Amino acid sequence: MDARVANWRVDRPETAKPCATCGELLGRGYPSCEGCAEVVDRPLRADWTDLPEQDPERVADAAPGEYSWTCVDWALRQLTCEGCRGELAAGAPTCVGCAAADSARWEVQAPTTNEHALRTAAVVLRAPSWRRESVVSTWRLVLPFVLTGAVVPVAAMRQVRIYVLAGRYEELAELEALPLALPRLPWVTVTAG
Ligand SMILES: [Zn+2]
Ligand SMILES: [Zn+2]
Repeated sequence: MDARVANWRVDRPETAKPCATCGELLGRGYPSCEGCAEVVDRPLRADWTDLPEQDPERVADAAPGEYSWTCVDWALRQLTCEGCRGELAAGAPTCVGCAAADSARWEVQAPTTNEHALRTAAVVLRAPSWRRESVVSTWRLVLPFVLTGAVVPVAAMRQVRIYVLAGRYEELAELEALPLALPRLPWVTVTAG
């Protein structure tokens, strides 16, 4: 097994289930709920702990490919942006330094679609003011399933967002399995395919 993804493949929940701390499906309380944060951040912290030298600045500045995305993101968490004094790459939505660090982060790719989704969800939820509320809510809804290893297709993500925009977040939040689908909205035209 590729050592760069080994830590991610252990210790993940098998099914989406309520968080013992916040009661939402595990992951939805990220990052404010400690129980959710522990599970979402576990693979990042595990990879970071495996590094022989744990130097956030060095890892954040390294050439793409030198470290796994998990280590890059964990390094950014530990750094404070000099421009806005927030978490680097997740501070003020207008901060140029954060935008540059966030853009550099994505030069390091996740090895699987599922890991990419996990990473995107975590990044979006850590900097919710950077994106539209419907985008943030959509990632919050699907994160518990991403944690179990599921891959939610782009078309399904789009559909979830349409429901969110229609004010149906609470209904979606009650579903404990994929797909997150509700009775069709009569006023939304859904194109086949
Ligand atoms: Zn929680
Ligand atoms: Zn900043």
